[in-house]
Amino acid sequence: MTAAGDKREQDVPGPESNPRLGLTGFASGTPASALAPLAPGERDLLDQAVDLLGGLRLAVLTGAGLSTDSGIPDYRGPQSVPRNPMTYQQFVGDEALRRRYWARNHVGWRHLRRADPNAGHAAVAKLEQRGLLSGLITQNVDRLHSAAGSVNVIDLHGTFDRVVCLQCASTFARSRIAEILEDLNPGYLERESDAGDVAPDADADVDDTEDFVMAPCPVCGGMLKPDFVYFGENVPKDRVADAYAMVDAAGALLVAGSSLTVMSGLRFVRHAVKAGKPAVIINRGWTRGDDLATLKIEAGVSEALTYLAERLPEVPRA
Ligand SMILES: [Zn+2]
Repeated sequence: MTAAGDKREQDVPGPESNPRLGLTGFASGTPASALAPLAPGERDLLDQAVDLLGGLRLAVLTGAGLSTDSGIPDYRGPQSVPRNPMTYQQFVGDEALRRRYWARNHVGWRHLRRADPNAGHAAVAKLEQRGLLSGLITQNVDRLHSAAGSVNVIDLHGTFDRVVCLQCASTFARSRIAEILEDLNPGYLERESDAGDVAPDADADVDDTEDFVMAPCPVCGGMLKPDFVYFGENVPKDRVADAYAMVDAAGALLVAGSSLTVMSGLRFVRHAVKAGKPAVIINRGWTRGDDLATLKIEAGVSEALTYLAERLPEVPRA
């Protein structure tokens, strides 16, 4: 389900209890039938990608640009609202900031839970079903790849639907902590439910946070933190090792929807290129990996991935 080697799994809901599956009535991600047509230049580049990647097993790395078609904004995309996400040091070191963070997350995580995967997520799942992937590394915490049916997924920066105790390292389903927070803060959600903008890390635009009561760890009473990687925090080493292994097991790297501005993603492009493997980047706008890439494709991510998932040839079994 998530990173092999991530051992803190005991309380994570499985796909069968994924609250996103089977829901109707919420805004959906763009279905394949509603995709914009590709421009001739984009099509030419994608045909070059088919030539370059055809017959190779791929490691896929995705970022926020993949989820914008599901209504989740991108920090760094062309239409992004600049934000200053909290650092790990601020979170653990400042109780008022931590309170504010939890209050905003309490409102915001529900928005991520209601988001639906889009055609780009479906295309990546299809690539895996066709046996073309060594695996998928995502920088997104929204779990939309898993919701779309991808199986071998490394959630590089963690997931929004899990909470970890910084003291005893127990992990909890976010929904369980939500019930505790609702008991501690009766009426809070109803008052703040009209929060407009929600960032990709579930940070809702809520300001009335001073009286919010945080939940202690149900096991040891310690400090809880949403289980994703904050700015100023490192990705756990075993997770990074798993991701490198995925790139090593692949014949090429395909990056989609990431500007690669954080080293946690860029290093996989460097790793692939250093090993002499083609690296193809699909992203609207500049990325920090452009100079390294074998091929850069400026196109809509959902459209481009759908095109590739239909056209890449089968890979011979190893
Ligand atoms: Zn604990």
